[in-house]
Amino acid sequence: RLHAWIAVVTGGNKGIGLEVCRQLAGNGVTVVLTARDEMRGEAAVDKLRELGLSNVIFHQLDITDASSIARLADFLKTRFGRLDILINNAAFGGVEYVRDPASGSVTSDEEVSLTSSANRAAKKGLQTNYYGTKHVIEALLPLVQASPDGRIVNVSSDFGLLRFFRNEELKQELNDVGNLSEERLDELLDMFLKDFEAGKVDERGWPAAFAAYKVAKAAMNAYSRILAAKQPAVRVNCVHPGYIKTDMTIHSGLLTPEEGGRRVVKVALLPEGVTGAFFEDGEEASF
Ligand code: NDP
Repeated sequence: RLHAWIAVVTGGNKGIGLEVCRQLAGNGVTVVLTARDEMRGEAAVDKLRELGLSNVIFHQLDITDASSIARLADFLKTRFGRLDILINNAAFGGVEYVRDPASGSVTSDEEVSLTSSANRAAKKGLQTNYYGTKHVIEALLPLVQASPDGRIVNVSSDFGLLRFFRNEELKQELNDVGNLSEERLDELLDMFLKDFEAGKVDERGWPAAFAAYKVAKAAMNAYSRILAAKQPAVRVNCVHPGYIKTDMTIHSGLLTPEEGGRRVVKVALLPEGVTGAFFEDGEEASF
């Protein structure tokens, strides 16, 4: 039956996303590999075709660009009329490396916190990892609803777990998804940015180190749970792929992209049941 399925993968040109495309296509699913850069995306599709996977097509998608999202939605609607699997994999790692023109040395944003570049990276982290993903879901949801067995898999991270929040009130609010609204999530993210810019991340009990990345993934987890409750006919789950050797980790991970991809694909192809859940090491775990 998988042979009739259609999947979209965001950030499919490299890393875990490319592996997810390869494994889904290997299972007979028709994969729309998306990438923000046409050249990188087309090259990735060529790579998969060379492996004998002819059921992969490219479509451009920058998840931070509303018109790009709309073009993808139009394409899917016209070509397939539905979407069985949406894998939100694209993300920004959260650290921009900055070269000091005087000394030539390279520092990360975390080290130059309180500078405009750190603030820019934090904003970009929320815009890409939370709002970008949310906007893609909103635009493609009608197509997922048109599938008899639609699924949304959000590639999250153990960095998005609530244990990193040291502010208990905040932690509880993010966990109480029955009472949490999307508007309140927006407010919390605005509060985070203000605190980040004011150098109050520690004082206010936000997660330390890679703060914006952790906050964005936690917000995505909370949103997934809200959406799962609102849309019982669509399965919405989050998955931590593991610590993976990709560009995002500067290849410092413990596992290969193939292993990370396998964990994501396992959740995408779950035969039945669970929605609004978080998966780690291939098993359901708490948020
Ligand atoms: P990579 O950096 O290798 O890949 C990230 C992908 O996201 C690239 O294809 C990149 O495209 C794309 N991307 C970034 N911004 C946008 C955008 N605005 N629009 C569309 N695509 C975009 O990272 P990984 O493969 O490691 O990460 C994949 C997912 O796994 C992410 O969600 C990450 O948070 C998560 N994850 C990864 C872990 C790890 O250890 N690697 C651990 C936990 C979670 P481009 O090539 O154009 O930059």
